[in-house]
Amino acid sequence: AELDTLDLVVLAAILLGTVAYFTKGTLWGVTKDPYASSLANASGAKAGKTRNIVEKMEEQGKNCIIFYGSQTGTAEDYASRLAKEGKSRFGLETMVADLEEYDFDNLDTIPDDKVVFFVLATYGEGEPTDNAVDFYEFITNEDVNFTEGNEPALGNLNYVTFGLGNNTYEHYNSMVRNVDKALQKLGAHRIGDAGEGDDGAGTMEEDFLAWKEPMWTALAEKMGLEEREAVYEPVFSIVEREGLTKESPEVYLGEPNKMHLDGTAKGPFNAHNPYIAPIAQSYELFSVKDRNCIHMDIDISASNLNYQTGDHIAVWPTNPGDEVDLFMNVLGLSDKRHTVVSVKALEATAKVPFPTPTTYDAIVRYHMEICAPVSRQFLAQLAAFAPDAESKAEMTKLGAEKDYFHEKISVHHLNIARVLDIVGKGQKWTNIPFSAFIEGITKLQPRYYSISSSSLEQPKKISITAVVESTQLPGRDDPFRGVATNYLLALKQKQNGDPEPCPFGLTYEITGPRNKYDGIHVPVHVRHSNFKLPSDPSKPIICIGPGTGVAPMRGFIRERVQQAKNGEKVGKTLLFFGCRKSTEDFMYKDEWEEAKQVLGDNFELITAFSREGTKKVYVQHRLKERAEEINQLLEQKAYFYVCGDAANMAREVNTVLGNIISEQRGIPEAKAEEIVKNMRSANQYQEDVW
Ligand code: FAD
Repeated sequence: AELDTLDLVVLAAILLGTVAYFTKGTLWGVTKDPYASSLANASGAKAGKTRNIVEKMEEQGKNCIIFYGSQTGTAEDYASRLAKEGKSRFGLETMVADLEEYDFDNLDTIPDDKVVFFVLATYGEGEPTDNAVDFYEFITNEDVNFTEGNEPALGNLNYVTFGLGNNTYEHYNSMVRNVDKALQKLGAHRIGDAGEGDDGAGTMEEDFLAWKEPMWTALAEKMGLEEREAVYEPVFSIVEREGLTKESPEVYLGEPNKMHLDGTAKGPFNAHNPYIAPIAQSYELFSVKDRNCIHMDIDISASNLNYQTGDHIAVWPTNPGDEVDLFMNVLGLSDKRHTVVSVKALEATAKVPFPTPTTYDAIVRYHMEICAPVSRQFLAQLAAFAPDAESKAEMTKLGAEKDYFHEKISVHHLNIARVLDIVGKGQKWTNIPFSAFIEGITKLQPRYYSISSSSLEQPKKISITAVVESTQLPGRDDPFRGVATNYLLALKQKQNGDPEPCPFGLTYEITGPRNKYDGIHVPVHVRHSNFKLPSDPSKPIICIGPGTGVAPMRGFIRERVQQAKNGEKVGKTLLFFGCRKSTEDFMYKDEWEEAKQVLGDNFELITAFSREGTKKVYVQHRLKERAEEINQLLEQKAYFYVCGDAANMAREVNTVLGNIISEQRGIPEAKAEEIVKNMRSANQYQEDVW
């Protein structure tokens, strides 16, 4: 029955589209495409919208708001899934809302027959995500003020929370914990447990699934909701536009927004609007055949972008051609891949996550994380659209059984198209409404890289140091490949005319939509970070940067070399670097020698090669060997920097530093740990880990 509704909606939309076509949109009193989503206008999208959440709820007839604080898209994705589930299973009138787009001083006027969800990721050192900074400051402020001035202020507010964190970081899930505490203090009523997902343990999805069931039960009880059989209702209508082809100038072929389509792209360049930057040069840093690490210099001189040493650059990747092809093929869309479609939200508060009109091909290639891990819940949902009973049963089993799912899917790093291909034994899954993919797959995310250049030395050129993700997994013919790093590899190969054949399929569009990135460009934006050198260059610094963790350290050391060349007094600079073998992955070896020539005894490189000799040696072992010197430098207020692997290395370095302080100063471990903590709060200990 749900398909009939869908058909009707699509039909109605086609009719509307036809009217629009013949009236050239004048029916709306405007000449622009009536289907063009607000996103097409990039940053202009926010103009004229209310920031009043209560007004918005009333206007849209909603009783459940799902706010998200998201950095990499996962929290946003979970928010959408909760919204969908709340509606289909319990008939809640849900809406998803970006925390950045609303004010919060009237949270106290939300009536108690409504509920507010907070799905909040913790970022970096226990910080809120960029879009949640204002909310976090508001709600955790001691003197928070609300419109009504009730006592307790949020006595009417019912809320639900889920946090996304990583236990390898010092401040695990601190965002959701602090928000929950603040809401409790203000008298709000939490429904269900304060859920926490752990990316560090790799259990985020399972934590989420395990948390939400009892939460729904508690919520249904509290709000008197009856559970009903969930039927799939599409959130988006997809209307094929017969009058348009992929050559039509108004059709988006992967351009991120209207300015890019019109060729008038200008700053500010940010997470909604990348700069299509020329690549000045790119080269390989490793000297082995089977592993790659790319150095890339990105030219920002023709943009108004700027950066400071220690900042991050975001790269907007393009999906590999072979994965796009497989996705099209398994859905039976290969023949239609260049058909122009308009996508429209069927419900006022949902947002189309890319500009339209566009093509299926462009949506899949530029806007969806089609290579990402598959969600178990999504498979369960797709079972209803399986091509035969056997595939349906298998999808249901995968959706229901955690261990089975792990063994069949996760271990092999299968993405959605590969799963459908294997489960359906090559049959095409033509029954799945395309809307389900727009809803169920995260939008393609930019990847961040620690800038490895110094802004003092080269203010208009940003360096990236990225190791290419390629892993041979059991049970797969081809290696698992990371999206962005292989995109960078392909760009490097093209720029240098490398002879290696591109392993990512013939339809890999590294020259961008309409070849706009040819010659040779990469879409980027800059994110400012707190990982910074001391303002006084004469202060000593200790840098721990094994593997690609060396990236920002290279920036730091080049900066200090430049400062010395400028006649400034530069303090002691220690770099602990580790890799497998001095002959394979010893990055920037020659540059360290150059630094030594300028900085003299004030610079020292301490290496740890884990696969030379009989015992594995890592940077933390080297650090320990230097205990006395490290302690002396710390007593001279040296700054301590750690970059790279959050899961193991950064933790162990933290522990080793505590040991060193305890031993050298003859104080108890606990006291030494306290000192390390204080160093962190005073920014004397800084981490840039992932
Ligand atoms: P992705 O495709 O994103 O895959 C990444 C990982 O996700 C895989 O290794 C795998 O574990 C998992 N995964 C993906 N798809 C699946 C699947 N289908 N099934 C199961 N698992 C899957 N990296 C650097 O090399 N240098 C840097 O300087 C650097 N700086 C960073 C700074 C910050 C602040 C952050 C947050 C990250 C940084 N990174 C850096 C990491 C970088 O952002 C990317 O995560 C990394 O390059 C991999 O990107 P990718 O697109 O190639 O891989």
